[in-house]
Formats: sequence, structure tokens, C-alpha cells
Amino acid sequence: MSVTESRRPKDAETHIGNHKLDPSTLMMGYGFDPALSEGSLKPPIFLTSTFVFDKAADGKRFFEGITNKHGSGGKAEGLVYSRFNGPNQEILEDRLKIWEDAETSLTFSSGMTAIATLLLAFVRPGDVVIHSGPLYAATESIINKILPQFGVHYVDFPAGATREELDEVMANAKAKGRVAMIYLESPANPTNVLVDVEAVAAARAAAFGDEAELPPIAIDNTFLGPLWAKPLAQGADITVYSLTKYAGGHSDLVAGGLVGKQSLLDKVRLMRNTMGGICDPNTAWMLMRSLETLELRMTRAGENAEKVCAFLRDHPKVEKVGYLGFLEEGSRQADIYERHCTGAGSTFSLYLKGGEREAFAFLDTLKIAKLAVSLGGTETLASAPAAMTHLSVPDERRAALGISDNLVRISIGVEKAEDLIVDFENALRAV
Ligand SMILES: *Cc1c(COP(=O)(O)O)cnc(C)c1O
Repeated sequence: MSVTESRRPKDAETHIGNHKLDPSTLMMGYGFDPALSEGSLKPPIFLTSTFVFDKAADGKRFFEGITNKHGSGGKAEGLVYSRFNGPNQEILEDRLKIWEDAETSLTFSSGMTAIATLLLAFVRPGDVVIHSGPLYAATESIINKILPQFGVHYVDFPAGATREELDEVMANAKAKGRVAMIYLESPANPTNVLVDVEAVAAARAAAFGDEAELPPIAIDNTFLGPLWAKPLAQGADITVYSLTKYAGGHSDLVAGGLVGKQSLLDKVRLMRNTMGGICDPNTAWMLMRSLETLELRMTRAGENAEKVCAFLRDHPKVEKVGYLGFLEEGSRQADIYERHCTGAGSTFSLYLKGGEREAFAFLDTLKIAKLAVSLGGTETLASAPAAMTHLSVPDERRAALGISDNLVRISIGVEKAEDLIVDFENALRAV
């Protein structure tokens, strides 16, 4: 939390002696000094549009920060105006970065605001964006429809691409223009295919190693982060979040975040200072509350998913369960999983025997699980991608992605696993 020098909070403790504190411990107090807020144990919500400077010289110094006058990267020494910064957002950003041992973090009014601001901060006319596919539909729209209006083009590759395929993709992209960014999403939705981030980083080094600035690798880590995957450790520079999902975790807010290298996120901060799109103080406060239970919630949801998937896999009306815990031993995807992930998550694909009729009968009979799109909340959600989220995807592409009419997408919550199994068993009876 950056306030004027005299009001700076006590140094946040991240260690006791040599013992490094776990993120789950730090979420309760890190970055907030009660002495700055009348002893309040929890940070108040700072509902103010602007902040009072002690002296005119402070205002000048802070604005020099906001406008990057001396290379501060848009970060001011003190609080200025709520489009730039605020206490709630700064504490939230300090806590969010801890999960990945990252240098810095920025929060936004939605996942898509984070993604749009990130891309706009890096692209120039004539550039190329390399991306894994499939991507979240709105992200794909930005890269494939909006950026081309400004002369920015793309080269895509399938999420599971090998090192050899990646080398070829990098060469193709280089031939088309300056590569502004390598944008990944893993696991891909709804196929659950993992991207080999280590292979992408190695292919980038081979293709661009002689250049002064490597194109940054950004990765949408919404499905597994920040608990089960930490792609910065595999060579990514920026992780991207829809905080609406597991991080928010209660299906009651919309927000986004970027976590990663300071030098790169400074460019995004300058763009956010200009365009707006910062997370509002109330949502930031709700996210801080959510982060206190992030590990508990995600751990329980992950354990539930494991039990539910074990039940579904053997059911006679089920064709297949696309769950990261069931990767074929010795396969390339299993190898990526071993190197990149510490848990299989709680969002998976259930393929029923049959088609739309069977999928709809199943969805319409569920009692605990709610029929809604989205994921990562405390409650279990189920939907039919072919008829809902991916309805507008052309038939051939849908077939190539395995988005068939019998596919039900499920995000498991923190209910009692035994109750969920009874709910699914009952719904399968109706199929
Ligand atoms: C939901 C989602 C987004 C978009 O986030 P919003 O918060 O809805 O703007 C981006 N990527 C993935 C993987 C998502 O699931």
C-alpha cells in the first residue's frame, strides 16, 4: 500500500527467521497496517474518488510517478486518484502476487479488461501475436477480430503442440512481422489440453534469443491458478486471471488480474492509468476476503472433483470423462502435467453416451448442481457448451475441438462430495 512516506505501513513480514511463510498464511494480513486505519483489523473500503496531498510538492512527485516521468513505470509514491490506485487495490495486488512469488501484479474490472489492456499495451501496427488455441471465446475475438482492425495479425497453434511444431510456428510468425506477444491459455477450454510452457519458452529462446527484447509469454491461468499451476516457474512472464472464477470463488463478482515481471507490467500499468479499468475498491475488498480461503476452497473442490470423476468414469451411461487426473500414463500430456501442475483442478468435461437429448435430460434433472456457465465458485455448475458458450463456433471448428452435443461441462464446488455423487447418479438415471 503506497501512502506518503510518513504513513508507510510497517514492512510486511514474509518470513520468521529463515522460515518463509506460506501464501495461505499471508492472505490474512499482508500489506495492511491496522495502525493506518484506526486499528481496524480488516482494511476499510476506501470509497473515495481522490486523495488529499500533504504538500503541493507531494502532488507533483506522485504525478511524476503516474506519468512515468522518471521511469517509475506509472507507479506513484502515494495515492492520487482512484483511476490510478487505491488502498484496497494495492493491498489486493500485493497479496495476489505472493501466490506465484511474482514481482508485481495489477487488478482490473474484469478478466477481459485485463486481457484487452495487456494486449493493447504491447501491440503496434504490423505486429503479430502468436497464440495457442482454443482460447476463451472473448479473448479469441480480441485477437482475431479487434486487433486486425489496427493492423495486428496472429498465428495460432494447437494447445498440445510439440517443440518441433512450436519452432515452426515461431519461424512462420517471424516471417510475418515483429512478434509482440506469445499468448497462451492452459488448460484449453473445453478440451482441457495443456500447453507445454517450458517448450514454448525454449522455442522462443531459439527463435528470438539474439534480439534485445524477447516477445513476452503471457498465459491465462484461470483454470488451475494460482494454486495448481504457477506458469511463471516454467518460463512465462505474465499470468492472466479472470479473478471472477476460483480466485473470487463465490460467483458474486467480476474482476481480472495480471501477475508477473515488473518491467512488463509497468507498460500495462501506464495503459491502465490512461484507459481506466482498475478493479473498484468494493470488489477489491471482496477479493481480499476470497483470497483468505483460496487454498481451503480450491483444495476441497479439487478433492471433490477427484471423487466425482472416479464415480462418473465407471458409469454405464458415460462415454468419457475429460479430467486432468485421468491423463494416459506415459503420454505427452501426462508429461506436461507432471512438470507443470500440482493438481487436476475441479473443472472437467463429461461426455454422455448419446447427444443433446441426453445432455439436456441430465442437466434438467440436477438438483444440487446449478445449470449455469462460469466456473470456480463454491457451488457446482454444469452447462452444455455446444448449446451455450460455444453455440456461435462454426460446426467444423466445434467438431475439431471435440465440442459435441453430448458434452457437459462441470465445475465442482465445495459441497459434500457424497451429495454431489448422489445428485449426478440421480441425473444419470434420467438420461
Ligand atoms: C471467464 C474467463 C475469462 C474472462 O474473464 P471475465 O472475468 O469474465 O472477464 C478469461 N479467460 C478464461 C479462461 C475464463 O474462464
